[in-house]
Amino acid sequence: NEILLEVKNLKKYFPVRKGFFGGETQYVQAVDDVSFYIRKGETLGLVGESGCGKSTTGRTIIRLYDPTAGEVIFNGAEIGMMKEKEMLPFRKKMQMIFQDPYASLNARMTVGDIIGEPLDIHGLASEKERLEIVHDLLKKVGLAPDHAVRYPHEFSGGQRQRIGIARALAVKPEFIICDEPISALDVSIQAQVVNMLEDLQNEMGLTYLFIAHDLSMVRHISNRVGVMYLGKLVEIADRNELYEHPAHPYTQALLTAIPIPDPDVSKSKQRIILEGDVPSPLNPPSGCRFRTRCKYAMAKCAEIEPEMKDIGSGHMAACHLL
Ligand code: SF4
Ligand code: MG
Repeated sequence: NEILLEVKNLKKYFPVRKGFFGGETQYVQAVDDVSFYIRKGETLGLVGESGCGKSTTGRTIIRLYDPTAGEVIFNGAEIGMMKEKEMLPFRKKMQMIFQDPYASLNARMTVGDIIGEPLDIHGLASEKERLEIVHDLLKKVGLAPDHAVRYPHEFSGGQRQRIGIARALAVKPEFIICDEPISALDVSIQAQVVNMLEDLQNEMGLTYLFIAHDLSMVRHISNRVGVMYLGKLVEIADRNELYEHPAHPYTQALLTAIPIPDPDVSKSKQRIILEGDVPSPLNPPSGCRFRTRCKYAMAKCAEIEPEMKDIGSGHMAACHLL
């Protein structure tokens, strides 16, 4: 398939003032020189510990944040530096599903207005059409059309996430960023929501960037998977290649940390490789950012930043061992 979205050397730095009045400004390098592409109709999973820059990457791609540097190419157009007016036609092609279905829906609006609002913003429907579209969308996500007159507080977390998904679908987007869409939900309904996202993808030809920390869920839903650490993309590959032959020590450690119900392996042993805290993104380690937690770290790792290398059929990783 052709490429829908390409991110080239994307950076997002947030200024932080050190100390009070007159202190110097430091920068959190939340996303630092990240490049990848997503093909039409595919799901790219993005994993990593919290604070690694996954959500910021997603938000910068759809221009909830302006990039500090780099390019975001959507359907061949560079949208990263576009002015808001030029962005408008692209805004409806890219939507986002948020992590917290309790915080992301406006409590004062009816479900019908929440789902229909993007249609109003883009002037896409008359009042009569809008009502029909809202009813269709509610059915599409497995909710009754008469729920349109109710308010978010009348619904469970899973139902609210369905409402959030219906809202994202209202403008017929091509690309959806799913930012941990199931991590706030009960385990018993997580699979339902994921299956629904997959069905909708097939039905509507959607392309997903699926951000999550649940590695087995990401393997299930993704075609390819990228791994981030402290603002850097450290590895990316087809999902089976990544899970069966992880090349980067961080990916290896993450996969080892998946709790496997195996009575012979104690919990502490499963987690031993990922000991130690993630360093501050305000002052990341020199060279390879993973070196303070890497059991293979060598002198070179503190001096030279490893670059992404293709180690075979699109499997890329950034480590001096390769
Ligand atoms: Fe470990 Fe060095 Fe590879 Fe970084 S570059 S992951 S510190 S071996
Ligand atoms: Mg996040």
